[in-house]
Amino acid sequence: MKTIISLSISLLISVSAIAQNYVLVIHGGAGTILKENMSDSLENAYRLKMEEALYKGYSVLQKGGTSVDAVQQAINIMEDSPLFNSAKGAVFTEEGKNELDASIMDGKTLSAGAVAGVTTIKNPINAARAVMENSPHVMMSGKGAETFAERQGLEIVPNSYFYTQPNFNRLKAAQKAEKNRGNGFLTEENPDYKYGTVGAVALDKQGNLAAGTSTGGMTNKKYGRIGDSPIIGAGTYANNNTCAISCTGHGEYFIKNVVAYDVSAKMEYQQMPLDAAANEIVNKKLKDIGAAGGLIGLDRNGNMTMPFNTPGMYRGAITRDGKVETYLYKN
Ligand code: ASP
Repeated sequence: MKTIISLSISLLISVSAIAQNYVLVIHGGAGTILKENMSDSLENAYRLKMEEALYKGYSVLQKGGTSVDAVQQAINIMEDSPLFNSAKGAVFTEEGKNELDASIMDGKTLSAGAVAGVTTIKNPINAARAVMENSPHVMMSGKGAETFAERQGLEIVPNSYFYTQPNFNRLKAAQKAEKNRGNGFLTEENPDYKYGTVGAVALDKQGNLAAGTSTGGMTNKKYGRIGDSPIIGAGTYANNNTCAISCTGHGEYFIKNVVAYDVSAKMEYQQMPLDAAANEIVNKKLKDIGAAGGLIGLDRNGNMTMPFNTPGMYRGAITRDGKVETYLYKN
C-alpha cells in the first residue's frame, strides 16, 4: 500500500514537473548592438517590445496552446514593430523595395511552411503557417505566395506600408559604402550594421517543439535575393527528437552551412547537448569563416541556448520558472 501511495505521489510530481516544462525564447536579430550606441529610451523600447512578444507567446503556452501558436503570436508582435527587421521594420532592397521571407516548422509532425520574396503580406509568418497547414507545399514565393495569402484571408497591405525612414537611410549608407568599397553589405565598422530578423522557439505543455523566423533580409540585397530565414534547415528547424532553432545573421553563410539543421544533426548523431552543439557552430565553425550571426534554440527538456558571434543580439526568454529575461549585449 505504502509503495503504491509513494509511487503515485512521485508520478504526480513528475507529471506536474512536465506540465510546467514550457518555455519560449525569442530573438530580434544580431549585429553591432553596443551599449555606447544605444540611448536609454531606445534600449527600453527594445526591451518592452521583446517582453510584449514573450508575454503574448507565453500566455498561449500557459493556457495549454500549441508551440506553433506561441511562436506565431510572439513573432506577430515583433513583425508589427518598426524596431525589428521583419514585416513593418523590414530593410530595403537595392531597388528601394521591401521583400520579406518567413518560415515556420512543427517539431511534432515535421511539417513546415515558408514564403519568400513577398511584398504585400502584412505578417509573413502567418502566410508561412498557412502554406504549412493549408497547402500541399512547403515553400511559396513572390506573386503566387501573395495570391495564396490573399485567398487564405490574410491581411494584404501596399508595399509602402513597410517604409520606414531609418531603414531607408540604412539603404543609402550601404549604397554609398558599395560605391567606395565595391561591397554593398554594411560591415562591422558601420554602426548601422545589424541584422534584425525576428524568431521564436517554443516548447508547449504537450512536449512539442516549434520554431519560426521572419525577416526583411539584408539592407541593399539584390532584388529577388532570398536569405536563410525561409529555408527549412538553414534559418529554421524543429524536431521533437532534438531541438527547435531560429537563426539570424548573414544568410548566405547560414544557407551554405545548413545551420539550423546542423545543430539538430549534432544532437542526433553525436549526442551533443544543445548548448554545446549550437556554440560550436556559431562561435567556431561560422566565426572561423567570417559568418556573422547567432541563433536561439530549445531542446525537448526545455534547455535553451542563445549564442551569437556579433557584438550583440536582441534576445529574450521566459524560462521554466516563469522568469522573463531580455538581453541586448554580450554578457
Ligand atoms: N538572416 C537574414 C538574411 O540573411 C538576415 C537577418 O538575420 O537579419 O536574410
